[in-house]
Amino acid sequence: MTSSALDEARAFIASKVLQPALVSPDITTEVKNTIKNSQTWLGRFKRTGDIVAYINRFQADANTDVFFALRNAGLLTFEDIREEFLKRFGVYSDDVTRLDDFIVGRSYTSSDLVIFAKTYNNLGGGILPIGEVGNHIAVFIKATLTGGSYSNKWLKNGYELQYFLKSRKGKYLESYLENRSIIEFPDVPVYAFVRNDASERFVLSGVFRSSRVVTENDGAKWFYLVRQEKVEPAVEMAKLEADLQQGVTRARADSREARRARLKVADKTPTKVIVLTTAFVRNPDVVAEVLDRAEGVCEGCGNPAPFLRTTNASPYLEVHHKLPLSKGGLDAVENAVALCANCHRQEHFGSARWPTTDG
Ligand SMILES: [Zn+2]
Ligand SMILES: [Zn+2]
Repeated sequence: MTSSALDEARAFIASKVLQPALVSPDITTEVKNTIKNSQTWLGRFKRTGDIVAYINRFQADANTDVFFALRNAGLLTFEDIREEFLKRFGVYSDDVTRLDDFIVGRSYTSSDLVIFAKTYNNLGGGILPIGEVGNHIAVFIKATLTGGSYSNKWLKNGYELQYFLKSRKGKYLESYLENRSIIEFPDVPVYAFVRNDASERFVLSGVFRSSRVVTENDGAKWFYLVRQEKVEPAVEMAKLEADLQQGVTRARADSREARRARLKVADKTPTKVIVLTTAFVRNPDVVAEVLDRAEGVCEGCGNPAPFLRTTNASPYLEVHHKLPLSKGGLDAVENAVALCANCHRQEHFGSARWPTTDG
Protein backbone atom coordinates (compact mmCIF):
# COMPACT_ATOMS: atom_id res chain seq x y z
CA MET A 1 0.00 0.00 0.00
CA THR A 2 1.41 3.38 -0.94
CA SER A 3 1.07 6.21 1.51
CA SER A 4 -0.92 9.32 0.70
CA ALA A 5 0.61 12.65 -0.25
CA LEU A 6 -0.55 13.93 3.13
CA ASP A 7 1.42 11.22 4.96
CA GLU A 8 4.44 11.76 2.72
CA ALA A 9 4.40 15.51 3.36
CA ARG A 10 4.22 14.89 7.12
CA ALA A 11 7.02 12.32 6.94
CA PHE A 12 9.17 14.68 4.89
CA ILE A 13 8.99 17.43 7.52
CA ALA A 14 9.35 15.01 10.41
CA SER A 15 12.45 13.33 8.99
CA LYS A 16 14.18 16.54 7.87
CA VAL A 17 13.42 18.89 10.77
CA LEU A 18 11.41 17.54 13.68
CA GLN A 19 12.99 14.18 14.49
CA PRO A 20 16.64 15.33 14.22
CA ALA A 21 15.83 18.22 16.56
CA LEU A 22 13.97 16.07 19.07
CA VAL A 23 16.88 13.61 19.45
CA SER A 24 19.64 16.22 19.40
CA PRO A 25 21.57 16.70 22.68
CA ASP A 26 22.26 20.32 21.63
CA ILE A 27 18.61 21.38 21.73
CA THR A 28 17.07 22.57 25.01
CA THR A 29 13.90 21.07 26.45
CA GLU A 30 12.12 24.37 25.95
CA VAL A 31 12.87 24.43 22.22
CA LYS A 32 12.00 20.73 21.98
CA ASN A 33 8.58 21.52 23.44
CA THR A 34 7.99 24.09 20.72
CA ILE A 35 9.04 21.52 18.14
CA LYS A 36 6.71 18.92 19.67
CA ASN A 37 3.98 21.51 19.26
CA SER A 38 4.76 21.77 15.53
CA GLN A 39 4.63 17.98 15.36
CA THR A 40 1.18 18.04 16.92
CA TRP A 41 0.00 20.57 14.32
CA LEU A 42 1.43 18.47 11.55
CA GLY A 43 -0.79 15.61 12.68
CA ARG A 44 -3.87 17.83 12.60
CA PHE A 45 -3.71 18.89 8.97
CA LYS A 46 -6.28 17.07 6.86
CA ARG A 47 -5.27 18.25 3.38
CA THR A 48 -1.82 18.30 1.84
CA GLY A 49 -2.37 21.84 0.56
CA ASP A 50 -2.96 23.01 4.13
CA ILE A 51 0.55 21.79 5.01
CA VAL A 52 1.91 23.54 1.92
CA ALA A 53 0.33 26.81 3.15
CA TYR A 54 1.79 26.22 6.61
CA ILE A 55 5.34 25.60 5.34
CA ASN A 56 5.09 28.39 2.79
CA ARG A 57 5.03 30.91 5.65
CA PHE A 58 8.66 30.17 6.53
CA GLN A 59 10.13 32.32 3.79
CA ALA A 60 13.03 34.39 5.03
CA ASP A 61 15.43 33.48 7.81
CA ALA A 62 13.51 33.95 11.04
CA ASN A 63 14.68 35.47 14.31
CA THR A 64 12.91 33.01 16.59
CA ASP A 65 14.53 31.00 19.36
CA VAL A 66 13.74 27.78 17.51
CA PHE A 67 15.36 29.01 14.32
CA PHE A 68 18.63 29.97 16.06
CA ALA A 69 18.66 26.84 18.21
CA LEU A 70 18.41 24.61 15.12
CA ARG A 71 20.95 26.64 13.15
CA ASN A 72 23.45 26.63 16.03
CA ALA A 73 23.09 22.87 16.36
CA GLY A 74 23.76 22.46 12.64
CA LEU A 75 20.22 21.20 12.00
CA LEU A 76 17.73 22.03 9.25
CA THR A 77 14.98 24.60 9.85
CA PHE A 78 11.57 24.96 8.19
CA GLU A 79 13.09 27.86 6.26
CA ASP A 80 15.84 25.54 4.97
CA ILE A 81 13.50 22.83 3.72
CA ARG A 82 10.78 25.12 2.35
CA GLU A 83 12.06 25.18 -1.23
CA GLU A 84 12.57 21.43 -1.52
CA PHE A 85 9.22 20.84 0.16
CA LEU A 86 7.44 23.08 -2.36
CA LYS A 87 9.19 21.31 -5.25
CA ARG A 88 7.81 17.99 -4.06
CA PHE A 89 4.43 18.98 -2.66
CA GLY A 90 3.65 22.33 -4.32
CA VAL A 91 1.44 20.48 -6.83
CA TYR A 92 -0.96 19.85 -3.95
CA SER A 93 -1.30 23.52 -3.07
CA ASP A 94 -4.90 23.53 -4.34
CA ASP A 95 -5.83 20.55 -2.18
CA VAL A 96 -6.83 22.76 0.73
CA THR A 97 -9.71 22.95 3.16
CA ARG A 98 -12.40 25.20 1.68
CA LEU A 99 -15.20 27.27 3.13
CA ASP A 100 -17.84 24.85 1.85
CA ASP A 101 -16.12 22.00 3.68
CA PHE A 102 -17.69 23.47 6.82
CA ILE A 103 -21.22 22.15 7.06
CA VAL A 104 -23.99 23.32 9.36
CA GLY A 105 -24.67 20.75 12.07
CA ARG A 106 -21.23 19.09 11.90
CA SER A 107 -18.65 19.32 14.66
CA TYR A 108 -15.10 20.62 14.42
CA THR A 109 -12.08 20.92 16.67
CA SER A 110 -10.58 24.28 17.44
CA SER A 111 -7.58 23.12 15.38
CA ASP A 112 -9.76 22.58 12.29
CA LEU A 113 -10.84 26.21 12.59
CA VAL A 114 -7.48 27.84 13.29
CA ILE A 115 -5.80 25.83 10.52
CA PHE A 116 -8.37 27.23 8.08
CA ALA A 117 -7.87 30.73 9.51
CA LYS A 118 -4.08 30.14 9.31
CA THR A 119 -3.43 31.40 12.85
CA TYR A 120 -2.32 27.94 14.02
CA ASN A 121 -3.07 29.03 17.57
CA ASN A 122 -5.81 27.42 19.64
CA LEU A 123 -5.27 29.84 22.52
CA GLY A 124 -5.84 32.99 20.47
CA GLY A 125 -9.17 34.78 20.46
CA GLY A 126 -12.47 33.36 19.33
CA ILE A 127 -12.88 35.67 16.33
CA LEU A 128 -11.08 34.34 13.27
CA PRO A 129 -11.25 36.37 10.05
CA ILE A 130 -10.78 34.04 7.07
CA GLY A 131 -8.27 35.88 4.90
CA GLU A 132 -6.71 39.28 5.36
CA VAL A 133 -9.21 41.66 6.97
CA GLY A 134 -10.66 43.75 4.16
CA ASN A 135 -10.41 40.86 1.73
CA HIS A 136 -11.74 38.25 4.13
CA ILE A 137 -14.41 35.90 2.82
CA ALA A 138 -15.91 34.99 6.19
CA VAL A 139 -15.40 35.33 9.91
CA PHE A 140 -15.35 32.20 12.06
CA ILE A 141 -16.29 32.62 15.70
CA LYS A 142 -15.73 30.08 18.44
CA ALA A 143 -18.40 30.41 21.11
CA THR A 144 -18.20 28.48 24.38
CA LEU A 145 -21.43 28.97 26.28
CA THR A 146 -20.43 28.02 29.84
CA GLY A 147 -17.18 28.16 31.76
CA GLY A 148 -15.49 30.52 29.32
CA SER A 149 -14.28 34.01 30.11
CA TYR A 150 -17.19 35.57 28.18
CA SER A 151 -20.88 34.98 28.88
CA ASN A 152 -21.81 34.14 25.32
CA LYS A 153 -25.33 32.77 25.10
CA TRP A 154 -28.23 32.04 22.83
CA LEU A 155 -30.86 34.76 22.94
CA LYS A 156 -33.04 32.61 20.72
CA ASN A 157 -31.83 29.04 20.50
CA GLY A 158 -30.02 28.42 17.21
CA TYR A 159 -31.04 31.77 15.75
CA GLU A 160 -29.84 34.71 17.83
CA LEU A 161 -26.52 34.69 19.63
CA GLN A 162 -25.02 37.08 22.16
CA TYR A 163 -21.32 37.01 21.35
CA PHE A 164 -18.79 39.22 23.11
CA LEU A 165 -16.31 41.35 21.21
CA LYS A 166 -12.63 40.63 21.55
CA SER A 167 -11.35 42.40 24.65
CA ARG A 168 -7.95 43.09 26.15
CA LYS A 169 -7.64 43.86 29.85
CA GLY A 170 -11.35 44.56 30.11
CA LYS A 171 -11.42 46.93 27.12
CA TYR A 172 -13.81 46.01 24.31
CA LEU A 173 -12.38 48.28 21.62
CA GLU A 174 -14.25 48.21 18.34
CA SER A 175 -10.95 49.10 16.67
CA TYR A 176 -9.38 45.71 17.41
CA LEU A 177 -8.77 44.01 14.08
CA GLU A 178 -10.96 41.01 14.96
CA ASN A 179 -13.87 43.28 15.96
CA ARG A 180 -13.44 45.42 12.85
CA SER A 181 -13.64 42.28 10.70
CA ILE A 182 -17.30 42.04 11.74
CA ILE A 183 -18.31 45.65 12.45
CA GLU A 184 -16.89 47.24 9.29
CA PHE A 185 -17.86 44.38 6.98
CA PRO A 186 -21.53 43.71 7.67
CA ASP A 187 -21.93 41.68 4.46
CA VAL A 188 -19.21 39.18 5.35
CA PRO A 189 -20.87 36.04 6.74
CA VAL A 190 -20.12 35.06 10.33
CA TYR A 191 -19.85 31.28 10.80
CA ALA A 192 -20.79 30.53 14.40
CA PHE A 193 -19.11 27.45 15.90
CA VAL A 194 -20.75 26.81 19.25
CA ARG A 195 -20.15 24.39 22.10
CA ASN A 196 -21.71 24.18 25.54
CA ASP A 197 -18.42 23.83 27.42
CA ALA A 198 -14.74 23.29 26.81
CA SER A 199 -15.06 19.49 26.84
CA GLU A 200 -17.09 19.49 23.62
CA ARG A 201 -16.23 19.98 19.98
CA PHE A 202 -17.57 23.07 18.22
CA VAL A 203 -20.69 22.58 16.10
CA LEU A 204 -21.28 24.89 13.14
CA SER A 205 -24.62 26.37 14.14
CA GLY A 206 -25.17 28.40 11.01
CA VAL A 207 -24.21 31.52 9.13
CA PHE A 208 -24.93 34.74 11.00
CA ARG A 209 -24.65 38.48 10.62
CA SER A 210 -24.22 41.07 13.33
CA SER A 211 -27.31 43.25 13.58
CA ARG A 212 -25.69 45.60 16.12
CA VAL A 213 -23.16 45.98 18.91
CA VAL A 214 -24.70 46.16 22.38
CA THR A 215 -22.86 47.88 25.25
CA GLU A 216 -23.48 46.71 28.81
CA ASN A 217 -23.44 49.03 31.84
CA ASP A 218 -19.95 47.83 32.77
CA GLY A 219 -18.64 48.67 29.29
CA ALA A 220 -18.58 45.09 28.00
CA LYS A 221 -19.77 44.87 24.39
CA TRP A 222 -21.33 42.07 22.41
CA PHE A 223 -22.46 41.37 18.89
CA TYR A 224 -26.14 40.70 18.40
CA LEU A 225 -25.76 37.90 15.86
CA VAL A 226 -28.75 36.82 13.81
CA ARG A 227 -28.84 33.66 11.76
CA GLN A 228 -29.10 34.24 8.03
CA GLU A 229 -30.35 31.14 6.28
CA LYS A 230 -34.06 30.91 6.15
CA VAL A 231 -35.27 27.55 4.94
CA GLU A 232 -38.98 27.41 4.25
CA PRO A 233 -41.23 24.41 3.69
CA ALA A 234 -40.95 22.65 0.35
CA VAL A 235 -42.59 24.25 -2.67
CA GLU A 236 -43.06 23.08 -6.21
CA MET A 237 -40.53 24.31 -8.75
CA ALA A 238 -43.31 25.39 -11.11
CA LYS A 239 -44.88 27.51 -8.36
CA LEU A 240 -41.52 29.07 -7.55
CA GLU A 241 -40.98 30.01 -11.21
CA ALA A 242 -44.54 31.25 -11.67
CA ASP A 243 -44.23 33.44 -8.55
CA LEU A 244 -40.99 34.91 -9.85
CA GLN A 245 -42.50 35.63 -13.28
CA GLN A 246 -45.52 37.34 -11.72
CA GLY A 247 -43.21 39.32 -9.43
CA VAL A 248 -41.06 40.41 -12.38
CA THR A 249 -44.14 41.51 -14.33
CA ARG A 250 -45.31 43.58 -11.35
CA ALA A 251 -41.81 45.00 -10.77
CA ARG A 252 -41.46 46.06 -14.41
CA ALA A 253 -44.86 47.75 -14.32
CA ASP A 254 -43.78 49.70 -11.25
CA SER A 255 -41.83 52.99 -11.43
CA ARG A 256 -38.06 52.88 -11.41
CA GLU A 257 -38.04 55.08 -8.27
CA ALA A 258 -40.28 52.71 -6.37
CA ARG A 259 -38.19 49.74 -7.45
CA ARG A 260 -34.92 51.36 -6.44
CA ALA A 261 -36.33 52.43 -3.09
CA ARG A 262 -37.26 48.80 -2.43
CA LEU A 263 -33.84 47.56 -3.59
CA LYS A 264 -32.10 49.88 -1.13
CA VAL A 265 -33.66 48.20 1.87
CA ALA A 266 -33.99 44.72 0.39
CA ASP A 267 -32.51 41.72 2.19
CA LYS A 268 -29.61 40.67 -0.04
CA THR A 269 -29.45 37.18 1.39
CA PRO A 270 -31.77 35.01 -0.66
CA THR A 271 -34.18 32.80 1.20
CA LYS A 272 -33.52 29.10 0.67
CA VAL A 273 -36.35 26.73 -0.09
CA ILE A 274 -36.53 23.00 -0.54
CA VAL A 275 -38.00 22.29 -3.94
CA LEU A 276 -40.18 19.30 -4.72
CA THR A 277 -39.64 18.14 -8.24
CA THR A 278 -39.85 15.08 -10.44
CA ALA A 279 -37.38 14.50 -13.24
CA PHE A 280 -36.92 12.02 -16.07
CA VAL A 281 -33.84 9.85 -16.04
CA ARG A 282 -32.60 10.38 -19.58
CA ASN A 283 -30.71 7.92 -21.72
CA PRO A 284 -27.12 9.13 -22.32
CA ASP A 285 -26.96 7.11 -25.57
CA VAL A 286 -29.76 9.23 -27.03
CA VAL A 287 -27.87 12.41 -26.17
CA ALA A 288 -24.62 11.04 -27.61
CA GLU A 289 -26.29 9.83 -30.84
CA VAL A 290 -28.06 13.14 -31.44
CA LEU A 291 -24.88 15.13 -30.81
CA ASP A 292 -23.01 12.88 -33.26
CA ARG A 293 -25.73 13.36 -35.85
CA ALA A 294 -25.58 17.16 -35.50
CA GLU A 295 -21.80 17.27 -36.06
CA GLY A 296 -21.50 20.54 -34.16
CA VAL A 297 -24.25 22.29 -36.13
CA CYS A 298 -27.55 23.44 -34.58
CA GLU A 299 -30.41 21.41 -36.04
CA GLY A 300 -32.68 24.42 -35.59
CA CYS A 301 -30.97 27.37 -37.28
CA GLY A 302 -28.18 25.49 -39.08
CA ASN A 303 -25.44 27.62 -37.53
CA PRO A 304 -22.34 26.09 -35.94
CA ALA A 305 -22.43 25.69 -32.15
CA PRO A 306 -21.60 29.14 -30.69
CA PHE A 307 -18.72 27.95 -28.50
CA LEU A 308 -16.83 24.89 -27.30
CA ARG A 309 -17.28 23.41 -23.85
CA THR A 310 -14.27 24.24 -21.70
CA THR A 311 -14.43 20.77 -20.14
CA ASN A 312 -13.79 18.77 -23.32
CA ALA A 313 -13.65 21.22 -26.27
CA SER A 314 -16.78 19.68 -27.81
CA PRO A 315 -19.25 22.01 -29.62
CA TYR A 316 -21.84 23.28 -27.13
CA LEU A 317 -25.34 22.11 -28.20
CA GLU A 318 -28.31 21.13 -26.05
CA VAL A 319 -30.41 18.06 -26.74
CA HIS A 320 -34.12 18.94 -26.82
CA HIS A 321 -37.13 16.63 -27.07
CA LYS A 322 -39.48 17.71 -29.86
CA LEU A 323 -42.44 16.25 -27.98
CA PRO A 324 -41.47 16.87 -24.33
CA LEU A 325 -41.04 13.88 -22.04
CA SER A 326 -43.52 15.59 -19.71
CA LYS A 327 -46.14 15.38 -22.48
CA GLY A 328 -45.52 11.72 -23.16
CA GLY A 329 -42.71 12.19 -25.70
CA LEU A 330 -40.25 9.32 -26.03
CA ASP A 331 -36.63 9.49 -24.96
CA ALA A 332 -35.54 8.36 -28.42
CA VAL A 333 -33.14 9.63 -31.09
CA GLU A 334 -36.08 10.29 -33.44
CA ASN A 335 -37.76 12.59 -30.89
CA ALA A 336 -34.62 14.58 -30.10
CA VAL A 337 -32.73 17.44 -31.76
CA ALA A 338 -29.43 19.13 -30.95
CA LEU A 339 -29.96 22.88 -30.63
CA CYS A 340 -27.89 25.95 -29.91
CA ALA A 341 -28.88 27.66 -26.65
CA ASN A 342 -30.88 30.36 -28.47
CA CYS A 343 -32.90 27.91 -30.55
CA HIS A 344 -33.48 25.77 -27.47
CA ARG A 345 -34.86 28.71 -25.49
CA GLN A 346 -37.01 29.65 -28.47
CA GLU A 347 -38.54 26.16 -28.49
CA HIS A 348 -39.55 26.60 -24.86
CA PHE A 349 -40.38 30.32 -24.67
CA GLY A 350 -40.86 31.58 -28.23
CA SER A 351 -42.42 30.38 -31.46
CA ALA A 352 -41.44 26.72 -31.71
CA ARG A 353 -40.10 24.99 -34.82
CA TRP A 354 -41.53 21.76 -33.48
CA PRO A 355 -44.82 22.90 -31.95
CA THR A 356 -46.21 20.50 -29.40
CA THR A 357 -49.84 21.57 -29.83
CA ASP A 358 -51.95 22.15 -32.92
CA GLY A 359 -52.49 25.80 -32.05
ZN1 LIG B 1 -29.79 27.37 -33.43
ZN1 LIG C 1 -35.87 21.43 -24.48
